[in-house]
Amino acid sequence: MPRSYVHEARKRVGPKKARVRPVIERLAVEHADAKIALAFQSPLELLISVMLSAQTTDVNVNRVTEKLFVKYRRPEDYLAVPVAELERDIFATGFYRQKTKSLRGAMQRIIEVHDGEVPTAFEDLLKLPGVARKTANVVSAERGEAQGIVVDTHVRRVSQRLAFTRQEDPVKIERDLVRLVPRADWARFPHLLIWHGRRICDARKPRCEECPLAADLCPSSRV
Ligand code: SF4
Repeated sequence: MPRSYVHEARKRVGPKKARVRPVIERLAVEHADAKIALAFQSPLELLISVMLSAQTTDVNVNRVTEKLFVKYRRPEDYLAVPVAELERDIFATGFYRQKTKSLRGAMQRIIEVHDGEVPTAFEDLLKLPGVARKTANVVSAERGEAQGIVVDTHVRRVSQRLAFTRQEDPVKIERDLVRLVPRADWARFPHLLIWHGRRICDARKPRCEECPLAADLCPSSRV
């Protein structure tokens, strides 16, 4: 896209600080059902689902955890079976060797340091083996204590198209977004962008003609 066109488009929609609230409000109407797609009943199931969701789809994780959570109910259960058995049980989520190692490491620490409970403090979550910032962010947000904004491929793309960030690196994108998005919206903001990215703002073919942001809030609109 030529620079002059981008400049004109940005001028047309106005500064991001003024746009962020109406963007959130319109997306909340458009995607009223936007929520985490992983199925879980407890903080432990939430943590495990998020850990298994790396490099695969939520649908795939739910298919695996439907049986997994019947067999493994407590952190101890993940350590009580041979490694090969747990590997088999999570095989379909991919990267099963690394995920098994991470799960067992996390369960071990939860038992030894946190009395068998998933910790609530963000820093404690980050100290669990295999738990990176994105996982800790998802877990905290779902427990009503968002500490940051989850950045996945949809959040990255839609944020860039809305000119909320120019960054490529997820950590830098998150830094831009937490400055911009009101703290009360940190948990729902990524869900709204993820669902918008899946349903309308497609990576290759954004359906701008159906988008509630196209007319006045998106500098990348093609209509
Ligand atoms: S107007 Fe188009 S590019 Fe902008 S958010 Fe909507 S679908 Fe995406």
